[in-house]
Amino acid sequence: SDSSKEDHVDVLIVGAGPAGLMLANWLSRFDIRTRIVDKRGSKVFNGQADGLQCRTLEILDSFDFAHRAWRESNHMLEICLWNPDEHGCLQRSDRIPDTIPGISRFQQVVLHQGRIEQFFLDSIKEHSDIRVERGVLPTTFDFDETKASDFEDYPISVTLRTLSDEDSTPQQRQTHQKLAEGQQAVIEDGLFRSNLVADDTDNLISAAEAKENRNANEMETIKAKFMVGCDGAHSWVRRQTGFTLEGDSTDYIWGVLDIIPITDFPDIRHRCAIHSANAGSVMVIPRENKLVRLYIQLQSTSHQKNGSKADRSWITPQIILESAQRIIHPYKLDYKYCDWWTAYQIGQRVGDKFSLRDRVFLAGDAVHTHSPKAGQGMNVSMQDTYNLGWKLAHVINGSSEPSILSTYEAERKLIAQQLIAFDRRFSRLFSGRPAKDVMDEEGISMDEFKQAFEKGNEFASGVAVDYAASVLIAKETDDEGQENDTDLINSKKHQVISKPELATKIDIGKRMPSFKVLNHADARPWHLQELLKSNGRWRIIVFPGQLTNPLNMQRLKKLGESLGSPGSFIYQYTPSGNAIDSVIEVLTVHSGPRAGIELLDLPEAFHPHHGDVGWDYWKVFVDEESYHEGYGQAYANYGIDPTLGASVIIRPDQYVSWIGEVDDYEKMSQFFGGFMKQRRA
Ligand code: FAD
Repeated sequence: SDSSKEDHVDVLIVGAGPAGLMLANWLSRFDIRTRIVDKRGSKVFNGQADGLQCRTLEILDSFDFAHRAWRESNHMLEICLWNPDEHGCLQRSDRIPDTIPGISRFQQVVLHQGRIEQFFLDSIKEHSDIRVERGVLPTTFDFDETKASDFEDYPISVTLRTLSDEDSTPQQRQTHQKLAEGQQAVIEDGLFRSNLVADDTDNLISAAEAKENRNANEMETIKAKFMVGCDGAHSWVRRQTGFTLEGDSTDYIWGVLDIIPITDFPDIRHRCAIHSANAGSVMVIPRENKLVRLYIQLQSTSHQKNGSKADRSWITPQIILESAQRIIHPYKLDYKYCDWWTAYQIGQRVGDKFSLRDRVFLAGDAVHTHSPKAGQGMNVSMQDTYNLGWKLAHVINGSSEPSILSTYEAERKLIAQQLIAFDRRFSRLFSGRPAKDVMDEEGISMDEFKQAFEKGNEFASGVAVDYAASVLIAKETDDEGQENDTDLINSKKHQVISKPELATKIDIGKRMPSFKVLNHADARPWHLQELLKSNGRWRIIVFPGQLTNPLNMQRLKKLGESLGSPGSFIYQYTPSGNAIDSVIEVLTVHSGPRAGIELLDLPEAFHPHHGDVGWDYWKVFVDEESYHEGYGQAYANYGIDPTLGASVIIRPDQYVSWIGEVDDYEKMSQFFGGFMKQRRA
């Protein structure tokens, strides 16, 4: 048979959920040969994950489509905690702001996963020829160890097979719901994607292989430089690498109901955590289109025979609703319209390894699973591949040494571990029965719950992510408990020193915080983060302080001469023929006043001249009050002294790498020298 169809790709992505789509989207910004396959015949249309945290919105904004999510989503601004009073009667005990004010220019929003996936698909299409191949799955995997250390070579071989429509569209159980009198509608449940259902990958592979002889065109061999398993909790790619998830499966079964509620409960449009005295807890998530999602831990009942996975027939929307009604009593709760529902068992696990020789990577649910209560899964999954995408692209396009790839596991495994620890603590507090009084040791203290919620809020926003020292992060290593970590010890050897005291409110290893600054050329206000688009560029942000002070102007000019000279590292790393800001972009934020400083008096390195289109007017900014949008106070908020200034190096994913003296060209050069490749003779 003609099984000779073969393709060579830079990156093969397995799975087109949030993690896979984020990766394809990143790679669409570069010239990288990418294929992305998914065993399912169609994308998600409703239900599933819905929470987008602040950091995720910042990231989507860096790809120019956060506004779509922001507009369509429901915004959550306040959390209400409901607990039993001393008579066991439900009462509102607290209100706390949802996401701590001031930590991001975005707040937490909810919109179902299907829409978010659509935004990704549109963005990928706009920037590239990459298309998700649906109903296609890998059936064999081979890894040639001898080719693993040559990053020009293709050590990975995978056979791809196309499924029949029938196989790529699993049957969903249908339940009927009453509409008006005499009318019925059918709701499809989400159980077919739930972990209560056995994974069907092996069956699909056998079905596809059985058909091979009939149609050889449905088979293709892929040779890949890199492969990324974004194929969810049952990851086939993970099985091929032999890696495992470590941790436990909990006994909790959770029911999820997306309904338009009919209720007299006063806080139904708030995010609520409701602990009843004896009937369990429910989390209320107000959604777009009048929907409300209820997360309910289903009580163990006689229906649940020894917790076996096979028996899930007892779980119906009615069972979930009745549990909610018991918890929310004496308030009433019912519905006419149910959009989606599911149930699943929570496992709290983290992968032992995230990469095979920096050629095969795992991301998203394939390396961490946990409860949905803090709304983290989709966010953390997308952020895994947001971390990985630019690193792969820079290695493939020759701008970086492959050594940067090992920072993926070092950076993301720690986040996954923190996530699981957070989830364990939070689940226990959420699932437990409230303590009756201080003597009730088995019960959960509601004060403790509130504190955990408040603290958890910062973690859950995603902005607290703090990457450790490495070739990409020039900071002092926090040695506590990490003496045996060889990655960290190695990273210390070529450590470039930062001077964090020059920008006391910018944390090296965290994402660059954002405040408003004005464009020097036209006085338009911008959030600084809006300037840090995800287009693969490294950035040096120069904060030269007051340029009316001659010493500061002198230092800026000195830096400009070094950066602008043909021998500078910026030239060395930029392939000839490419724009000078295409690999490393220099942005300047001076502390004002604007008056008395002319843009064109600054060295060209700060406002490059691009052949046909003249000067670049979008690189120099000032920390001044705007006419219409207030005063960002960037210097004060970044903790930079306007008489001294500072320079900051920012990674292509907006994380802060280095802080130093305004004109410390040597340290900048040394930092980039740790991993960048010369592109000119
Ligand atoms: P998935 O979304 O699981 O995507 C994996 C993809 O790979 C799928 O499209 C699958 O078809 C495909 N695939 C699998 N195996 C193969 C194979 N062998 N070959 C080819 N393709 C394959 N997270 C949040 O952040 N916020 C929430 O509010 C939230 N709520 C949730 C509610 C529910 C009911 C559920 C079930 C999950 C929720 N999550 C939430 C979690 C979130 O859905 C997941 O964490 C997230 O989808 C993980 O993304 P992923 O891309 O890693 O994996």
